[in-house]
Amino acid sequence: MKAFEIRSPGDYGVTEAPEPVIGEEEVLVQVAYAAICHSDIDMLTGARRHLIRYPNIGGHEFAGTVVRAGHRVKGFRPGDRVACECIIRCGQCTGCDLGWNDCENYSELGFMQGGGFAEYCAVPARNCHRIADHVSFEQAASHLSMSRTATLQSRRGGTRGIGRLSRRSGRA
Ligand SMILES: [Zn+2]
Ligand SMILES: [Zn+2]
Repeated sequence: MKAFEIRSPGDYGVTEAPEPVIGEEEVLVQVAYAAICHSDIDMLTGARRHLIRYPNIGGHEFAGTVVRAGHRVKGFRPGDRVACECIIRCGQCTGCDLGWNDCENYSELGFMQGGGFAEYCAVPARNCHRIADHVSFEQAASHLSMSRTATLQSRRGGTRGIGRLSRRSGRA
């Protein structure tokens, strides 16, 4: 499949990558639309170093169609339209009980494991949200970007991401 790989800061491009193999609690999503977020740019330039792995396929706010489901997945099947949440927490460690980003097995689509800048992405089923029929893939991916940015910035007390996002939305 075609994928946008970030090999290291400043070294990135479209490449041919193997199609992801899904785990038993994951779905394979055929990506229809992926938003570009300020933190994607930070990963490209190397401005963000925390919770990043190189090389990696970027893209953490995206939507698409389920094409395959692991055998322990309940509630999703091929053909379902979904928006994909990027933060992966195991939900089983003591860190998960403590809250935000404290999971001992923390990972993030697009930063620490393969993301949505690709034809296909393996996503834990619990990270998928069904999209209503009247909502487009573009709207769903953009909404993920806005809601996540607003949440993070309100926690940090800044508006950097929101400012960039509103300028981008203003042009759209
Ligand atoms: Zn983002
Ligand atoms: Zn955990």
